[in-house]
Amino acid sequence: MLWRLRAAQGAAARLARGIRGRQLQTYRRFGSDRQPIWQERWFQYTAGAAGTAGAVYVAVHTRESPTGRWQFISVTPEDEEREGQQAYRMIMQQYRSRILPRGSPADTLVRRVAQRLLEVAQTRGNWEVHVIDSPERNAFVLPGGKIFVFSGLLPVAMTEDGLATVLAHEIAHQQARHTGEKLSQARLLHLAYLFVALFVDSGAAQIGRSMTSLLLELPNSRRCEEEADQIGLQLMATACYDPAQAVALWERMRAAEGVSPPEFLNTHPSTESRIVNIRKWVPDAELKREAADCPSPGLLHDFARFGSGQDHYVR
Ligand SMILES: [Zn+2]
Repeated sequence: MLWRLRAAQGAAARLARGIRGRQLQTYRRFGSDRQPIWQERWFQYTAGAAGTAGAVYVAVHTRESPTGRWQFISVTPEDEEREGQQAYRMIMQQYRSRILPRGSPADTLVRRVAQRLLEVAQTRGNWEVHVIDSPERNAFVLPGGKIFVFSGLLPVAMTEDGLATVLAHEIAHQQARHTGEKLSQARLLHLAYLFVALFVDSGAAQIGRSMTSLLLELPNSRRCEEEADQIGLQLMATACYDPAQAVALWERMRAAEGVSPPEFLNTHPSTESRIVNIRKWVPDAELKREAADCPSPGLLHDFARFGSGQDHYVR
C-alpha cells in the first residue's frame, strides 16, 4: 500500500538523517489519517455482500454423503468425468508400456474382483481397471471410474478379500464423489483469493493460494480417506467378501511400511488409525454381509509374490 511505503521511506530517512523534521511529521500524519481497509464502510458492505452470496451458494450446493457427512459439491458429474478423462489419457500415456495386458493373470484377477464389487456398487461411471507393473504398493481411482492398481500391491493384498478391500475403497471414492468435492472447494477458494486480491492485498491472496494444499488437502483428504474406508467396507461385505479381512490387509500393509511418517504431515490417515477405525466398523459390515445372503465365505487365493515394493499408501 502506498501510505505504508511512504511511512517506511520516512522512517528510513529519519534513521539516516537522525532528525525529526516537518517532512516526517507529514508522513506520520498521512499514515495515521488512513483507516485500515477493513474499517472502511464500502469494504464492509462489499465483504458482507460477498460473504452472504458465498454462504447461500455453499448452502445450495451442499449435500449429504453416503455416510451422512455434509459435503459441498458445485461441479457436475460431467465436470468430474471431463477431469477424469484428461487425467486418464495422461496416465495411460505415462504408463503405456507398463500396463499389464488383458488376460494376464494379475489383470484377470483384479478385474474379476472389481467386477464383483461393481455389480453391487450401483454407481455411475464407465469403469476401467488397469494393473501397472510397478513395485509401488498403491492404487488410485480417477473420477468417472478408472482404477489403477500397481502390481506391488498384490503381494500385500495376498487374498481376494484383501484386494477387494483396496478396490472397494477406490470405488467408494467415486461413489462419494470425493473428486467433485475437492474440485468444488478449490473453485470456492480461488474465488475467495480473487476477492482478496481485488479488494485487499494481492500479496495476501498469493499467500492464501500457496496454502491451498494445506487448507484443502490435509484435513479434507483424511476425512475422505476415512469415508472411503467405511463405505468400502460396506461394499465389500455386500459383495460377499469378508470385511474382517480388511483389518488383516492393513496389518500386512503396516508391517510392509515399517515406520510410517507422522500422521499430521500425511494426507492419509496413518495405517494405525485406519486399523482402529476399520475394526470399529467391521461388526456393521458383517451385518451387511449376512443380509446379502452370501452363498459361502469368500474364496482365498494366495497371489504370486512379485515386486519388491516401496512405502506407498493406497490412495
Ligand atoms: Zn483413498
